[in-house]
Amino acid sequence: MSIWSNLRGHAVQREMFSRAMQRGRLSQSYLLVGPDGVGKQLFARKMAQCLLCRAPGGAELEACGECSGCRPFLAGNHPDFLYITRPEGKRELQIDLIAGPKERRGQEGLCHDLSLHPLEGSRKVAIINDADAMNEESANAFLKTLEEPPERAILLLIAANLDAVMPTIRSRCQLVRFSPLSNDDVESLLIEQGLVPSAAEAKFASTLSEGSLTIARQLLQPELREMRTTLYSTLSQKAFSGLTLARTLMEGIDKMSADTPEQRVNANWLIRFAVEYYRSALRILSQSDRSSSGADSNVAEVRGWAAAVATRGDAMELIGSLIERAIDASSHIEQNVPVPLCLESLLDDLSRMTREPLMNADKR
Ligand SMILES: [Zn+2]
Repeated sequence: MSIWSNLRGHAVQREMFSRAMQRGRLSQSYLLVGPDGVGKQLFARKMAQCLLCRAPGGAELEACGECSGCRPFLAGNHPDFLYITRPEGKRELQIDLIAGPKERRGQEGLCHDLSLHPLEGSRKVAIINDADAMNEESANAFLKTLEEPPERAILLLIAANLDAVMPTIRSRCQLVRFSPLSNDDVESLLIEQGLVPSAAEAKFASTLSEGSLTIARQLLQPELREMRTTLYSTLSQKAFSGLTLARTLMEGIDKMSADTPEQRVNANWLIRFAVEYYRSALRILSQSDRSSSGADSNVAEVRGWAAAVATRGDAMELIGSLIERAIDASSHIEQNVPVPLCLESLLDDLSRMTREPLMNADKR
């Protein structure tokens, strides 16, 4: 079985590496760029294994899984495999990891280890994760190794934000771009990895995931799911108090957010949930969606609400305006309007708009 079988997507990138390998034209430094949660790290690790395998069997980009290169690699102790990443809670990839701590600068760290002779095989492979978190000092320390990599060493740098990678680093690597996964891939990964309580939840999270497993996992945090349930059941009521709902949600947001930026992220998810709620209603009313979409227990609620709204002459326009209003709120959050204010005014508007004929509701 191929070692690539559990990797989703990225066939083009694999093909590119495979050809370069067959022609013996691998570069020494690659920069793998793409959104978080699409599998860049997994891809780089598989590449590393292929490069360290002693019995790859032909010119294919493969690894045997059993040789003296593969076994220690899989066990996490291959002497010629190096990996650095930004430590948890740190904002930067510090120079210590690259060039050793101050008192032993140049005698430890990634660049030093790379300069040593390979112990097991004929080459060394290094994965430098969070290459976009290098500060100037780290980048400068790394530059010499990047300019003249040790013979047969291969460097795989990974970054989510290309603009944040120092230009000196970027210009010396071959760029490999990674795209978001398909929603289907995210959905099946969530189920396969046991990250969701139900298939409907997997569908819901994958729809909003932007092709990123990281985002899908954020969406599935229990606190967020609980707030989504509250939001959906309140929006489904014939009349509700926007201010009360805002207060309840704000409490939940505060509980799960460590700081203001996190508060904004979580509030934005709730707003997007509202958008998704109304979009499903729109799909139901326009008959384009007879299947169950959205989260399982919420589908019935959306259907009920949509059926009630359908009795109004302006149902479609109303839902369109509700969606617009929510999208506005999302952009306000991004423009740093205080979160409580944003939520209160949004939910109050939604409550009013659904109660009144559209013409009045539009004059806000
Ligand atoms: Zn092998």
